[in-house]
Amino acid sequence: MIMKGKKGIVLGIANKRSIAYGIANACREQGAEMAITFLNERFESKLAPIAEELGCGERLYPCDVSKPEEIVALRESLARDFGQIDFIVHSIAFSPREGLEGRFSDIPKSAFNIAMEISVYSLIELVRELKPVLSDNASVLTLSYYGGEKYIPNYNLMGIAKATLEATVKYLAEDLGKDGIRVNAISAGPIKTLAAAGIGDFSFILRWNEANAPLKRNVTIHDVGNAGMYLLSDLSRGVTGEIHHVDSGYNVMGMPAVEFDENGKPSLVWKG
Ligand code: NAP
Repeated sequence: MIMKGKKGIVLGIANKRSIAYGIANACREQGAEMAITFLNERFESKLAPIAEELGCGERLYPCDVSKPEEIVALRESLARDFGQIDFIVHSIAFSPREGLEGRFSDIPKSAFNIAMEISVYSLIELVRELKPVLSDNASVLTLSYYGGEKYIPNYNLMGIAKATLEATVKYLAEDLGKDGIRVNAISAGPIKTLAAAGIGDFSFILRWNEANAPLKRNVTIHDVGNAGMYLLSDLSRGVTGEIHHVDSGYNVMGMPAVEFDENGKPSLVWKG
């Protein structure tokens, strides 16, 4: 039981398709105890059975990361129920619609600020506000995507948010390293979740990745969950500031697997 004795908080479970659910489940299977959060009352009843299943029916807390008072209340709940915690999973992102469609140069400042606040600043604020309840050797994990490294169609504003998030991981790792706290990210391959449904042509992105990744398949929330559990556990005690790709190897490919039709237009080659 790799996570026996570990306690933590998981933010970002919307349903059983969420990446955060995959991570929470892997941690639970390895003996961790946890609390999970919901965004607002609309989601509380939906998450109650999931909390029961994860063994934390009594520890389902509200937390909209755009409300600083809810982060403070979260710390108080964690202090009351656990004393100290050993891990934080930050699996949260949001962009207004205008950030995910149209021309990139047309993105309004208001959308930019919202996406940055929810998807990036929330990690900094969470770590700062929860620090008093973090144990020595605590581990923090967030979720990124390849669209923060390279252009991905329609990913637009979230690409900028993920690039900033990845830099934030490195700067937080340095800042918190002196306190023994580790901060890492998983850059996950595309997975069909609620958040992903907001990205235009997402089913094409899934097909493209499956065709072009070395493993010739898309990853699952269980693949990401197991890798996340490793990064939250003592097995990764020497690892911090890392952006760990769990994407069937897609990020190493320099040339896609396409063929050209009779009109010279590129099309997907299906292998497998
Ligand atoms: P998901 O199931 O929709 O999870 C996204 C979560 O963010 C939801 O639980 C959502 O809550 C929460 N959230 C949004 N705004 C929030 C706020 N103000 N306060 C608190 N929580 C808020 O989708 P997911 O794909 O698992 O996404 C999790 C993370 O993985 C995101 O950072 C995403 O960018 C990243 N990621 C996803 C993929 C992919 O292909 N799916 C690939 C790489 C990285 P509600 O549902 O209650 O609104």
